[in-house]
Amino acid sequence: MKIAVIGTGYVGLVSGTCFSEFGHTVTCVDKDAGKIERLHQGIMPIYEPGLDVMVERNTEAGRLFFTTDLKEAMEGAEAVFIAVGTPSRRGDGHADLQYVFAAVEELADYISDYTVIVTKSTVPVGTGAEIIKRLEGKLDEHLYSVASNPEFLREGAAIEDFMRPDRVVVGIDSDRAKAVMSELYRPLFLNETPVVFTNRETSELIKYAANAFLATKISFINEMADMCEKVGADVQQVSKGIGLDNRIGGKFLHAGPGFGGSCFPKDTRAIVHSADDYEVPMKIIRSVIEVNEERKLAMADKVIKACGGSVEGKRIAVLGLTFKPNTDDMRESPSLDIIPALQKAGAEIHAFDPKGMEEAKHMLEDVSFHDEPYSTMEDADATVIITEWNQFRALDFGRMKDLMKSPVLVDLRNIYGKADMTSNGFDYTGIGR
Ligand code: NAD
Repeated sequence: MKIAVIGTGYVGLVSGTCFSEFGHTVTCVDKDAGKIERLHQGIMPIYEPGLDVMVERNTEAGRLFFTTDLKEAMEGAEAVFIAVGTPSRRGDGHADLQYVFAAVEELADYISDYTVIVTKSTVPVGTGAEIIKRLEGKLDEHLYSVASNPEFLREGAAIEDFMRPDRVVVGIDSDRAKAVMSELYRPLFLNETPVVFTNRETSELIKYAANAFLATKISFINEMADMCEKVGADVQQVSKGIGLDNRIGGKFLHAGPGFGGSCFPKDTRAIVHSADDYEVPMKIIRSVIEVNEERKLAMADKVIKACGGSVEGKRIAVLGLTFKPNTDDMRESPSLDIIPALQKAGAEIHAFDPKGMEEAKHMLEDVSFHDEPYSTMEDADATVIITEWNQFRALDFGRMKDLMKSPVLVDLRNIYGKADMTSNGFDYTGIGR
């Protein structure tokens, strides 16, 4: 089957590549000529483990193509996936759909045979219907269907998530579209992956409900962590104690500096704003957002407290800048709130991240970036772990103590234990313990 994917970002590039791995012929198109040029040279525009090898295998097999030319991508395609960004609209937090609608306008010119237009981008309920409205008079209604097929992959584990998903959700309004989507996902049917076929509105809402629910789990355990700190309880034990209950589940119950990334913050904001349009209060998700916003600043206060109440003139080493490990994505990372708050309190920031620094350099000011963890810690009054990259899990404590001015470690991911670190001579602060 031949398909086109519009947008070669984290979602478009991974899903296009994985569809080609299924055996389909895929052309990925992006407006960013630099990205396409790099892909032609075999250079990945994003960091995603395993992606380069899969791209190479499928381009060599003649199943995966990259272009800036939408017309070329659309030729003979039975389905076109829209995987462009849907960031928060500046000012009001609604999902900004300008890139989705622009893609729809453009692709309409190149449809001459029946094609399924699929939104893979995360789009608010009603977007599919709005696309149909916008195509009225432009495209014969028999020539297309609009389907919703939200993506649930996680950056850092994107290929595994796409190839072996917990489920696939497809919102369609016709048997013909269902047949095309079934054919596309046939390899997963054979694996007995649950595929939820539903109407478009339900499918669109499932994506927001899923992200809002996961964000809720995170804000929930973060509040429990605050309670633990006050009463002498251990949040990791609380997570374990509740997570072993199958009705709750242990995932997304790790207390930390608050959620970030390209999805949870914007998607929670977007669903709350959509709900406003329908006069549904969405009180739970509103609280989740509020708890998370306060959390990030509370983390800066935690560092200040660990430094004896002031960071004025102090040198702070930050390990990890991305919102989670195994990605170079800096979008809405907690580090983008914590670092400026520390700077405002007078701290001098030195930082290292294995993959995120290229992006971070455009997003943070007056930070000294290092290319490895230990030089970052030289003369530091405190080291703060913001992201739990594997390479921070087995730091050389002796070397750290020799390098640092004072052995203060603030571990916002609980990758170390307090007793251990105290016996190693550190003044250690974790989360919720
Ligand atoms: P991204 O910003 O990494 O990529 C979007 C790409 O689309 C960019 O390369 C941009 O140049 C391109 N683009 C925009 N308009 C275009 C057009 N008209 N023609 C061709 N190319 C165009 O975004 P992303 O992180 O991949 O997210 C895409 C969508 O998927 C969003 O709606 C997001 O919410 C959703 N999503 C993201 C993730 C994730 O982990 N990143 C997971 C699930 C869902």
